[in-house]
Amino acid sequence: MDLLAHDPASLPIAETFLSFQGEGKLAGMPSYFVRVSGCNLRCRWCDTPYASWNPEGRRVLVDDLVSEACASGARHVVLTGGEPMLFEACAALGTALRARGMHLTIETAGTIDRPIPCDLISISPKLANSTPAGDPRDPAGAWAARHEARRLKADIIQALLDRHPDRQLKFVVQRREDLGEIEALLGTLRGWVPGDVLLMPEGVTPAAPARAREVVTWCIERGWRYCPRLHLDVFGNTRGT
Ligand code: SF4
Repeated sequence: MDLLAHDPASLPIAETFLSFQGEGKLAGMPSYFVRVSGCNLRCRWCDTPYASWNPEGRRVLVDDLVSEACASGARHVVLTGGEPMLFEACAALGTALRARGMHLTIETAGTIDRPIPCDLISISPKLANSTPAGDPRDPAGAWAARHEARRLKADIIQALLDRHPDRQLKFVVQRREDLGEIEALLGTLRGWVPGDVLLMPEGVTPAAPARAREVVTWCIERGWRYCPRLHLDVFGNTRGT
C-alpha cells in the first residue's frame, strides 16, 4: 500500500535523475530532473509513456524531492512529466526549490493554468500531429477524443506567458503543414518574440541531417530557434537521461 497516496505534500514521481538539459534555451545545462507521473493528454509520439499512457512510479514527499535536488550538486532543476500542472503540490515544490536558490524550469503542455513559481516556463503546445487517432493503445478512441478537445488552450498559454517573463514555446513538428497551425496559434497570442519560438523535429532518435536542415530552414525564415535533443545524441532514448 502506498502510505503517501493521500498526502497533499507528496507527488507521484516516475523518476528523478541528474543529467543535462537536452532541449531549449538551456540546452547543455547540468540539471536535476523531477518527472511527475500522470498526464491529461496522450500524445501519439509521447517519448515518456511511463508518465502518460502507462503511468509508473511512487509517491515522494516534496521535502524529500527538495533535499535530493539540492544534494545532487546541480543548480538547475527541471520539473517535467507527464504534466506537472496537474498536481497542486508542485507549487510547494517550486517555492521550496527557489527558496534554496535553485533555478527552476517547468515543462508543460500549457493546457492547465496553475501558479507554480519558476524561472523559465517551457510551454510545448500540442499540434494536430500529436492526436492518437487509430492508436492501438486506445482502441475505442476515447483518449483520441479527449486529447483533441484538450490539447490546445490559447487562453491558458496566454496566462502562462503573461506571468512568466522568461519563456519558450516549443513545438514538435513533423511536416511543413504544421507551420500553419503554429502560426495560427501565435497569431492569437501576445507578448512573445520570435526568439521564444522553438521547432523540434519529432522522433526518439537524433534528426537526420537532411531533416534537421529542413526544420532549420523553417526557423531561419521566421527568426525562430531550432531545438535539438542533445540527450538523444549523447545517451540515446534511455530513461534517466
Ligand atoms: S503532454 Fe507530454 S507527457 Fe503528456 S502525453 Fe504528450 S508528450 Fe507525453
